[in-house]
Amino acid sequence: MNWDTIGREAVQLLSHYIQIDTINPPGNEHRASVFIGRVLKREGIPYSLFESAPGRSNLYARLRGDGSKRPIILLSHSDVVPVDREFWSVDPLSGLIKDGYIWGRGALDMKNVGIIELVVFLALHRSKFPLTRDVILLVTADEEAGGAMGAGWFVRHHPDLIRDAEFLVNESGKGKIEHDALVYSVDITEKTPCWLRLRAAGEPGHGSRPKPNSAVNRLVRALNRLLDYTPPVKVSPPVDLYFKGLAPLQKGERRTKFADIATAVHDQAFLADLNHSSQHAAVLRNTVSITMLRGSPKINIIPQTATAELDCRLLPGESPDRFMADLRRVIDDDGIEIEPVLTFTNTASPFDTDFVNAVRDVVSQYHRRTHVIPNVLAGFTDCHFFRDLGIHCYGFSPFIIPDEDLRGIHGNDERISVENMQRGPKMLFEVIERLQ
Ligand SMILES: [Zn+2]
Repeated sequence: MNWDTIGREAVQLLSHYIQIDTINPPGNEHRASVFIGRVLKREGIPYSLFESAPGRSNLYARLRGDGSKRPIILLSHSDVVPVDREFWSVDPLSGLIKDGYIWGRGALDMKNVGIIELVVFLALHRSKFPLTRDVILLVTADEEAGGAMGAGWFVRHHPDLIRDAEFLVNESGKGKIEHDALVYSVDITEKTPCWLRLRAAGEPGHGSRPKPNSAVNRLVRALNRLLDYTPPVKVSPPVDLYFKGLAPLQKGERRTKFADIATAVHDQAFLADLNHSSQHAAVLRNTVSITMLRGSPKINIIPQTATAELDCRLLPGESPDRFMADLRRVIDDDGIEIEPVLTFTNTASPFDTDFVNAVRDVVSQYHRRTHVIPNVLAGFTDCHFFRDLGIHCYGFSPFIIPDEDLRGIHGNDERISVENMQRGPKMLFEVIERLQ
């Protein structure tokens, strides 16, 4: 396998892929499907496109193994989030290659991984690699808006094409150098959204004659109660595993505390210290962020209704109904309606699988000291759709990347190093190789 050539191909393909406008909304992911499809066709690999809505399609291709093991899915989403052009130093859809980086929207989330999965797929095909398990390439639309027109649609309409898979590789988890070791995160689960709309009603009127029980006042009181409320700490099994994974990287007393986090969280000083890390704080409890407020359209009108939207995130295994009941109790006002906007449940994938062992083995070749950590993602991806089918899903991106290089995700000047795009295909290929 000539990894230099494959790496260069990955860089060029990513540059072109970024130039295809798949900003969601509206998405137009069919353009991305056509682009990937053209590459597959050139290599003589058959594929299918599944249109979930006009201009929005999902691409599926499958390399056959001998069937002695169950398939692995290489998943990516082809849509990207919008850009604020005035804050970019380059054209965000240029795919510019400059200063050792490939620049543009999607360079990190996740056209980069999409291209690496594609070139690995090509490399397996070109080399006639003796596969035991089928390898499925799946490129879906609409992840950035929740996946209803992408992975969610595909799982609902074509479960038979993927149901037999054992593993799925998706975005996120990655490596970084920390304390002279390569620390590699593999996402095994994620928190799930429980997006809620609060609606208060009250007597409308003129702003010159205040009404103590107006919709806005009731809503503000309810939100104040929520602000005073901190959801309790909960150590779920994947979170316990996450802290155990981090324990060897800690110094002194922290090491023993991390190894037994369920006991350690009763130490208030330790817990306060943990909360300094927004990631640690987020994986230990359900969270509430008040993000949208709406009252009157005019300054001198007391409106009949007022609404607030809450971005709540639940730990894996939590029940949205029970959480909403908790909030109802905290708000303690029958005049406030709570309506779910988006909720789903999620499970965790095990950490003692052939996939994780393969990652551990591969990663160990890239540094003399390596740690592979089971991560709990505070955000969410499309994985939950596939976990519902019983597929073990992992966030694994074949990158060794410092935190400061990740700032462009959903932000400005998104870019990935050429070095990472060149090394990534070999790394992912080696994982697939070990799974045969
Ligand atoms: Zn993404």
